[in-house]
Amino acid sequence: MLVELKQRLREITDLNAAGDLLNWDQATYMPQGGAGAHGRQRAILNRLAHERAVEPALGELIDRLTRYGENLPYDSDDASLIRVARRDFQKKIKIPSDHVERATAHFSSSYDAWTRARPGNDFATMAPYLERTLNLSREYSSYFEPYNHVADPHIDDADEGMTAASISGLFGELKLQLVALARAICEQPAADDASLRQTFAKAAQFDFALHVAKSLGYDLKRGRLDLTHHPFSTRLSAGDVRITTRVSENDLGDALFSTLHEAGHAMYEQGISAELDGSPLGQGVSAGVHESQSRLWENVVGRSRGFWEYFYPRLQRIFEEQLSRVPLGAFHRAINKVARSLIRTDADELTYNLHIMLRFDLELKMLEGQLRVTDRADLGIAPSDDRDGCLQDAHWYSGYIGGRLQSYAIGNILSAQFYAAALKMHPDILHEIATGEFGTLHTWLAASLRRTISSSARPAR
Ligand code: ZN
Repeated sequence: MLVELKQRLREITDLNAAGDLLNWDQATYMPQGGAGAHGRQRAILNRLAHERAVEPALGELIDRLTRYGENLPYDSDDASLIRVARRDFQKKIKIPSDHVERATAHFSSSYDAWTRARPGNDFATMAPYLERTLNLSREYSSYFEPYNHVADPHIDDADEGMTAASISGLFGELKLQLVALARAICEQPAADDASLRQTFAKAAQFDFALHVAKSLGYDLKRGRLDLTHHPFSTRLSAGDVRITTRVSENDLGDALFSTLHEAGHAMYEQGISAELDGSPLGQGVSAGVHESQSRLWENVVGRSRGFWEYFYPRLQRIFEEQLSRVPLGAFHRAINKVARSLIRTDADELTYNLHIMLRFDLELKMLEGQLRVTDRADLGIAPSDDRDGCLQDAHWYSGYIGGRLQSYAIGNILSAQFYAAALKMHPDILHEIATGEFGTLHTWLAASLRRTISSSARPAR
């Protein structure tokens, strides 16, 4: 029976992976003319995967295996698999297949429209898409009634057990200290980051970013790096975990830190035992834990002094004209500059969480119907156009509203905790990073996270 369960779950995973490959293609190489057919193809694949995932025979199989699973050691792979399969089935059975198909097709055309609307600074085109996204997001939540907050079903999908109330509590506490800290820093003279805003050849930036990702431990035999509008990583199988980046000629940090971020996600996926491939255990345990890995490599490691003691001489050799007269200390201060800014993905480590809190508030208000798509919020810093305001990233144009952005802040918190725990076990990590050696940290993270995976789907507390 367990063999049959694994076989059925593998088929669902494979259908989803085929859809993810279409996503990746749309976001990288697809010519503009392919958007319509792509959206249709993804929608039908998602519908098929959903129909497979809610077949009564699968439900019966899980029911028959539940008692067996309860007698296995709680943290064993098989017991965890049966628990996770049961949780997923009980969720999916509530969602009609036609909703899955409609939502997928909409997100695909919305993303496609956003890729043109952002450079065109054209929110008017996107407003009806966003309106429909909100309606679909509410519709999705309605399948999980009763809930305390309309965002709760989305939040639970991303970070199981968390709710709008628990996240608001967490953010409220964090905000008190972060706002004071940001204010104190912003009152000081700002760090000079002009050195990052010179002209840097795109191809050389791409190659350097790839070199760094590889040095951290991103395995290119099981991955690749391509260009996109809004960087992301995607797992197609244990042997194929891809990352994407974008390169800006006048911003040295963009490609570099985006690539480190996505490599962090991908290294987490590459670290999962290959035996779990094709099962619901063969993927990251939650969005927050996922972001902890990306943010750890991007910021905690990637903006540290030791890291650049190792990599900066190489970067200086590549961009000799631009960086030969910029000392390491000045470069290190430039990549850690704290300033109020408009774009979340470009924000510094400190103000980034404030971006998330603000966006999370806006999402809750939009879902509640308190804030309309066409309303303008006063945020204390006003974007001069929609490109840097409501169109700034793909989040509101490629999926449901209300379930994802908070995971970045949760990830930031977890990243600091993971790193502190790693240093406690292996104080040498600091020295190793400064000599370009990342194996101890990488191995420790993979081993620690492997334990998180098999203990997922604990009853919510
Ligand atoms: Zn991420």
